[in-house]
Amino acid sequence: MTDLTRRTMIAASVFAASALALPRGSRAAAPQAKTQGPGVYRYKLGDFELTALYDGTWYLPIDDKFIRNASGARVDKALAKAFLPLHVLPITITALLVHTGTKLVLIDTGSAGQIVDSAGFMNANMTAAGIAPADIDVILISHFHPDHIDGIKTKDGDKVFPNAEIFVPEPEWTFWMDDGNQSRATGSVLKYFRNARRIFRDIAKEVHRFKPGVELLPGIISLPAYGHTPGHTAFALQSRTEHLLVMSDTVRNPYLFVRHPDWQPIFDMDGPQAVKTRRHMLDRAAADRMWVEAYHFPFPACGHIVKAGTGYELLPSMWQPL
Ligand SMILES: [Zn+2]
Repeated sequence: MTDLTRRTMIAASVFAASALALPRGSRAAAPQAKTQGPGVYRYKLGDFELTALYDGTWYLPIDDKFIRNASGARVDKALAKAFLPLHVLPITITALLVHTGTKLVLIDTGSAGQIVDSAGFMNANMTAAGIAPADIDVILISHFHPDHIDGIKTKDGDKVFPNAEIFVPEPEWTFWMDDGNQSRATGSVLKYFRNARRIFRDIAKEVHRFKPGVELLPGIISLPAYGHTPGHTAFALQSRTEHLLVMSDTVRNPYLFVRHPDWQPIFDMDGPQAVKTRRHMLDRAAADRMWVEAYHFPFPACGHIVKAGTGYELLPSMWQPL
């Protein structure tokens, strides 16, 4: 269809005709906002009140080597199928705040504007949600990649959440804080080692390390989900009869990694192990029809998983009032 025919069709439609019938003086009297509204979404899980806090989107340029075991052409096809631009992967970042009734728990802490300018809005959105950093009682960390831990401190090294007890996975701490491991690292992984030290070294005594598999708080259970990083951890939330699987970075952009769970992106440190974990978790979510949440799903980053072909499909949550 040419532009001309499309325009003729729109002009001829009843919708256009009724729009033209509006009184002219009432249109566009207010200025355009030019900014997005607050990135906050609340939902319930049993007695828990959850708040999704949007941090921003990291537009990561990708090349033919981005997926170790799929060609650039296949990745382009998957992106095009999802109406996404080619060679750039939008990585949205959404932290999850859990009000258990007695504690305010933040799972991962956003990028604090320390990675890209298009992300770092979690705290502004937290303010918009009526919560101050001093209100956070507990911080749970899934793994030590910068987009998950940078929010713990400002660029100048000040603690952002003064009253929060911080819990991190023991195997993650052991791997990233080991000087021998750091001495063998190069490129972006070396940067992650240095960043983990910047965030944790001077507060090491205050940081609680847990073994994935334990219940951290009533209704919040940590789950080993290794592969993305050596100690990468997911969380299972349960309140009354309702369950939510917080998948962290087990899957990221759903149009690539939910649809193609076997794909191994370069940022999965152990590709085959990450695939095993991803398949196991997606399978369980689909079989048990449980709510899922993932840090890099499109905002508000929650929904359900169903089986589809050789992979799965994310059915995003519909906006609803509390
Ligand atoms: Zn991440």
